[in-house]
Amino acid sequence: MSDIEFQDRERARMAKLARHLLDLDRCPHGRHQGDRCFDCGEGISPGNPFLPVGTRIGTTLYGQPIWVPPRERRNDPEAWLERPTAPAERRPLAILNTSIVTADGQYTVRTITPDEAVTLAKEATAIDSAVGHEATAQVLSQLLGVEVPVNRQVFEQQVGQQAVIFKPNGRLPQGQELSIEDLGRIGFTLKLLTRIA
Ligand SMILES: [Zn+2]
Repeated sequence: MSDIEFQDRERARMAKLARHLLDLDRCPHGRHQGDRCFDCGEGISPGNPFLPVGTRIGTTLYGQPIWVPPRERRNDPEAWLERPTAPAERRPLAILNTSIVTADGQYTVRTITPDEAVTLAKEATAIDSAVGHEATAQVLSQLLGVEVPVNRQVFEQQVGQQAVIFKPNGRLPQGQELSIEDLGRIGFTLKLLTRIA
């Protein structure tokens, strides 16, 4: 293979890599964010539910955070190094203390670590609590480092919205103060539930 052939092949490989990057805003049906998608709940693709705009996805060699840029700046390499300000597309992070799926649709669910939950809570534009138990809300506020209010709302998860589900591994004591230590004793599991369609 000649040098020219080698360079052409490398260029083609790089172009393919760039295409993967630009595919990162597609919904699970393959439509770009904002494009019409009849398979998405609202008829418009809300984008990639696994990587909402404003998610920190990595770090450069020089320690700069890499962010998912808003739709209109995806093609600008600089935009990936600027944290988007309050992206409108981003839904508030829901906090649930039951793993009840609240709306018909398609979901993904995975177990997350407390550290991951803290990062999600800190980077969320807003917290949408559906925690109905006072002591649990207090302990979750401590655990996540954000205010998790008691809210006995009728919660309905939106397409593209992420929810952190808190599930104690045993029965919580009724009507008494619950501490982080108690919770450590009982043990708990955190799940990330994302509605993708
Ligand atoms: Zn779709």
